[in-house]
Amino acid sequence: MSIGHKFNVKQPQANAGGQYTCGTCGNPLFSADKQFEAGCGFPSFWAHIEANVRQQELDSYGRTRTQLVCSRCGTHLGHLFPHALTPSKLRYCISAQAISKEGK
Ligand SMILES: [Zn+2]
Repeated sequence: MSIGHKFNVKQPQANAGGQYTCGTCGNPLFSADKQFEAGCGFPSFWAHIEANVRQQELDSYGRTRTQLVCSRCGTHLGHLFPHALTPSKLRYCISAQAISKEGK
């Protein structure tokens, strides 16, 4: 009598495409699976990697905007806006020059 080998191969998780890091210091900032197409011409995300993106209130000309900066090196990344259609109700509008893509 033989016992058949049962291979328990774990499928790799569907990789939605790596992450985005700070173009200046390499701090991981955004997961590519949190990216979405906002149609504004800027890379847009609906969540950031915990603790790596800092939010700063900017009070300019009577309008409050939320600026996003790298928590490690302070590089300006973009701005935070409300967005009705994302799970977080937020849109991180990021300057493409400030981040670089890592992984695939
Ligand atoms: Zn940085």
